[in-house]
Amino acid sequence: MATNIESVWQKIIDKINAENSGSSKIFMSSIRPDKLENNLLTLISVNEVCRDLINKRYEEDIKRTLKEFDPALNYEIIVKAGKIASKPLQPTLPTLSENVAVAPTPKVVSSKYESMFNSKYTFDSFVVGKSNQFAYAVCQGVTKSPGVLHNPVFIYGGVGLGKTHLIQAIGHEMIKNDPKAKIAYLSSETFTNEFIDSLREKKTDDFRKKYRKIDLLLIDDVQFFAKKESTQEEFFHTFNELFQQKKQIVLTSDTSPDKIPDVDERLASRFAMGVVVDIQQPDLETRTAILMNCAKKSMVAVPDDVIMYLAQGVTSNIRALEGAFNSVLAFSGIMNKPIDKDLVDQVLKNMLRETAGGKISINWIIKRVAEFYDITEAEMVGKRRSANLVLPRQVAMRLCQILMDASLNQIGEKFGGRDHTTVMHACDKVNKMIKTDSAFAEEFERIKRFVDPNK
Ligand code: ADP
Ligand code: MG
Repeated sequence: MATNIESVWQKIIDKINAENSGSSKIFMSSIRPDKLENNLLTLISVNEVCRDLINKRYEEDIKRTLKEFDPALNYEIIVKAGKIASKPLQPTLPTLSENVAVAPTPKVVSSKYESMFNSKYTFDSFVVGKSNQFAYAVCQGVTKSPGVLHNPVFIYGGVGLGKTHLIQAIGHEMIKNDPKAKIAYLSSETFTNEFIDSLREKKTDDFRKKYRKIDLLLIDDVQFFAKKESTQEEFFHTFNELFQQKKQIVLTSDTSPDKIPDVDERLASRFAMGVVVDIQQPDLETRTAILMNCAKKSMVAVPDDVIMYLAQGVTSNIRALEGAFNSVLAFSGIMNKPIDKDLVDQVLKNMLRETAGGKISINWIIKRVAEFYDITEAEMVGKRRSANLVLPRQVAMRLCQILMDASLNQIGEKFGGRDHTTVMHACDKVNKMIKTDSAFAEEFERIKRFVDPNK
């Protein structure tokens, strides 16, 4: 029996980890299954903090997955003896996050769509900033007059920037506005697989009927149509049919329509016929707002300086940002440590090791220092010599010396082909500043750790 529970639990964990950011792994590893009796799965948590966090964050996911095994199943998490004294930290000062409105709890959507959409991906929970405001506005516009204003809508951007969140938010909103609307939300992969199945089972007519008779078609990640020629052909007809009927179509992709490799030109040009919007990497302000939102939802007091520090440390995308935030909370709970910058450093160190394999290169230093100062890598190695670029450049050069033992020539070459005397001058200058300006010396240490947390 025990192994049976273990394997059920393993499947649940796998599913939740697949659907959530990487940090769910840490949360999930902090609980283990105890028994399954009377349709109740009892899980054991190492402490109350973890139990509460898991219940807050993953309750719905766990329940949904359990019901896939058996609709009668439910679960509870108990804290096993040896109670842990730690409670969520109480800050002595009000935190920034207290100024942010609580994100309303998502409304439950009608059961038909419950499994289709993630209830967290609504417009209400979407933080709007410079990087995504246009995409957000277009998507909202779509829900106000579907099929009329912008059709199709094509949203593109790198991983973890909110494309799936936005496209699902459209779905949620449409259900609210018109509960009878026929909505299809699927990835291009699912479309492909269903189409192939229908071919094999000689049910292409059914397939066609299904997709050509809907009111709103949401296709996530159309880049996966690449090379699937017959599926593209089929989708082309579905698209045209719906478009002619003035049904709303929304698509997402990791690149702009003209850059999706191996997609038929006719199809790519259809994609670009309406509005094409991109989502960019979030700026510091948006990252901070997102973290404040996370903090508010988690109901754990996270000090402002930790939020700022984290927002500076994780710049690549929002999924990574949420992942880092969750990891900080999880580590704090599991290891019973206060939520502070040291903990953030530890979490970032782990993330770095995963993404960069722990290797430090000149390019890596350029990237991280640029991120720290919120300038681009191109600016970092470019010719412009404005003060806001010169200092980061000099700091990065000095770090290349310290962290990599790179030669002046090697460094100069990577920094836009600069002369070795320029590099030498930069390094001298940074050294002098470290000696004479203690605030800068401290900042330099922080940047160094930011580039290489092992130092
Ligand atoms: P993508 O589909 O572009 O790879 P997702 O939509 O899956 O990215 O977003 C990754 C995670 O980041 C999700 O948990 C999502 O809710 C969150 N997220 C992305 N953008 C925002 C935003 N603007 N506000 C709040 N959460 C966001
Ligand atoms: Mg996505």
